[in-house]
Amino acid sequence: MVELSNVIRNIPDWPKPGIQFKDITTLLSNAEALGACIQGLTAPWKDKGVDLVLGTEARGFLFAPAVAVALGAGCVLARKPGKLPGSSIREEYALEYGTDGLEVHDDCIRPGQNVLLVDDLLATGGTILAASNLVRRLGGNVVGYSFVIELGFLPGRSRLEPLPVHSLVTYSSEN
Ligand code: AMP
Repeated sequence: MVELSNVIRNIPDWPKPGIQFKDITTLLSNAEALGACIQGLTAPWKDKGVDLVLGTEARGFLFAPAVAVALGAGCVLARKPGKLPGSSIREEYALEYGTDGLEVHDDCIRPGQNVLLVDDLLATGGTILAASNLVRRLGGNVVGYSFVIELGFLPGRSRLEPLPVHSLVTYSSEN
């Protein structure tokens, strides 16, 4: 069986010095790894009544629809500001320098729907917390989180728990 950590490529100093970028294109192009990845992201949620899987722009979009199909759920997109055509709500979150934002269509979740949040990577948790706030503002119920990669030396997980946080590959140090 393929070991997912072996098909994730580390690119040092990209997009800027000091960042160890976890490149998932090498995972996506490996058929066995891609299948195992979607199965792994999906497995804990099979009997949890998930109605919708939310993916965050941009790499969350690569996984959320496949997870949604596997769960018999729908898929919703949290996009960068100004990209969605319809009436939307926005959450801003802090970056190292400045702020960024995420938006969802204001009719994409009905009150009481169970929503699983999916992204490629959990670092500080700022992105996925902003997405969680959007879900809650629309009355959705966040059932948990699935990530391909977790940077375990950053506080992302502790900001999401006690809700269930599932990740497939955890890095315990920066390198
Ligand atoms: P955060 O909001 O700090 O949890 O950052 C998570 C988001 O930033 C995810 O959508 C990732 O795609 C991206 N990201 C953060 N750090 C890295 C990294 N070292 N390698 C690849 N993507 C990253």
